[in-house]
Amino acid sequence: MSIWNIGLSLVRPELRRKLTTAQGWSLMRIVEEYLAPKNTGWATEMKAGQVLRLTARTIIDFVAFDQNNYGEAFDQAPTKEASGCIYLKQGHQMLSRRGAPLMTMITDEFDGIGTHDMQFGMCGRSRHKRAAAEGRLGEYLHGDNMELPDHGCSENLTWALEPWGIPYENIPSPVNFFQNMAIDQQTSGMKRTQIRPEKPVNLELRAERDLLVGFSACPDMASKTRGLEVGATVFED
Ligand SMILES: [Zn+2]
Repeated sequence: MSIWNIGLSLVRPELRRKLTTAQGWSLMRIVEEYLAPKNTGWATEMKAGQVLRLTARTIIDFVAFDQNNYGEAFDQAPTKEASGCIYLKQGHQMLSRRGAPLMTMITDEFDGIGTHDMQFGMCGRSRHKRAAAEGRLGEYLHGDNMELPDHGCSENLTWALEPWGIPYENIPSPVNFFQNMAIDQQTSGMKRTQIRPEKPVNLELRAERDLLVGFSACPDMASKTRGLEVGATVFED
């Protein structure tokens, strides 16, 4: 049985999901399920009130847009300003550039293990090539002679959002789930770490309005796995 099947078996029999608040168990219907293979992307539309569960132990580059105005896209800066925190944590909201709430993180099973980055952008073909040209591949885990993937999160998100007519230039810097960073206050340095969940864990995000959401299962060159699959499940009451 694959790791993913174990995850599904927890969900399917009773079609229920667990809320981490005092609300306890909550019966919700599965609207949609998808398993994104490593180094691929996916996008879908969500209605206000629906919940997206992401199940993974690898980096996920995640973005959201107001379904009625793609210009109202997730923005890292207002999100950090509103929560007073450089990481997205349980209870925090993902905001648009104008400060509209897009999603609320209602479950974070990575909490206590690591944090979700909101400093970096997306990996991709051009960034990998630039890192090679600048001799910076050693910043990743596999050394200067590592074999580069021919695409990454930039391409995955571009391809996933293409059906909605959103070009790369209009895709914001994402929240990078499971990308645990060591940020040094003395030197201002940011370093990738290898801290990831040991087995797949759940993140749950509630849509605060009708949305288009998309993600990339990152090729994660800073980890031993170099990327893994990501499960996505949309629930509604
Ligand atoms: Zn990536």
